[in-house]
Amino acid sequence: MLSYLHGSASDPFHDIYSSPGWLTGYDPPRPFPFFVNLEPTNHCQLNCLFCSRQLSERPKGCLDLGLAARIFDETAGHPGTAVRLAGWGEPLLHPEIVKIVSMAKGRGIRLKIYTNGLALTEETMARFVDLGLDDLQFSMQGLNEKQYLFNRVGSDYKKLVANIEMAARVRERLGGAGGPGGGARPFLSILTSVLADELREDSPGDFVGRWLGTVDKVAVDLTNLNFVSRLPRVAPHLRKQSGDLRRGLCVDVFLAVEVKYDGTVQFCGQDSRGLPEHTAGRLPGESLRDIWLGGRFNDQRDRVGRSLGHENSPVCRDCHHNTSKYDVFKQAPSAGGPPGDGGA
Ligand code: SF4
Repeated sequence: MLSYLHGSASDPFHDIYSSPGWLTGYDPPRPFPFFVNLEPTNHCQLNCLFCSRQLSERPKGCLDLGLAARIFDETAGHPGTAVRLAGWGEPLLHPEIVKIVSMAKGRGIRLKIYTNGLALTEETMARFVDLGLDDLQFSMQGLNEKQYLFNRVGSDYKKLVANIEMAARVRERLGGAGGPGGGARPFLSILTSVLADELREDSPGDFVGRWLGTVDKVAVDLTNLNFVSRLPRVAPHLRKQSGDLRRGLCVDVFLAVEVKYDGTVQFCGQDSRGLPEHTAGRLPGESLRDIWLGGRFNDQRDRVGRSLGHENSPVCRDCHHNTSKYDVFKQAPSAGGPPGDGGA
């Protein structure tokens, strides 16, 4: 990760990101993961260059509220665990997204939403403030409008910028204060990632400087096109990718669990296709805890978390998510600060 400015105690997940095993994994695994990553929908308005969603033939659908309640009920029994709404679609396209936020917050769960920002309205943002949403992260790409539009095919940069500024204004107007560090809620953050050429054209430092007055945290990461490298439209750009292609032991399998909108539970969020080989179990027939501590998850930890057996998994063999790019944080966490979501 090139740049990570964290909000110290005001980051709603600071306790998790700064815990001793965040970057190195907890083995044996915790009784319940730090994060339940939940996919509200796999519908999306965009067709991004880098996105593995273009490989997926999964049926399109939305999270059922009964299943959401089942997941939140179990998660609420583990106060150290937070929920992140993300997955292979745009969470704000779920027609009941406000209700989902209300259900989670009503159970006292710390909650984060990742969004491309395009569908955010003033009314929805006001409801998020009112309900106590903890963190709203905007996903960008590149360091300026031209780079953003190259990667985020079909998007509207000006609308995104306007919506981020609107979110900050609404939060300020409604006084969304609170949280363990006393910071305003929801915590607002931006994560962008860049290709090598883009780094030569513009400066991550300037990008961070442009946005830090508006949001609470800005992170710049490196774009990795490996998962989509076989697609004809991506191949010409492969030489531009800037991800670190050395592999490391996977820490994700010790930190978080991934739940698709249809209840499929996976080892991590990298599999857009919902492959059976990457599937640990299914809700609601099993509990999340049983899946998390079960044999299939443990076999996966043996494969990629305790050894470098990535070639034996159809998803992990293209994954360079846990690479030496995080070593700087492992070696000197006080210098750079924990990398937040970068680790899982
Ligand atoms: S795809 Fe990557 S992050 Fe996911 S389990 Fe495999 S190695 Fe870990």
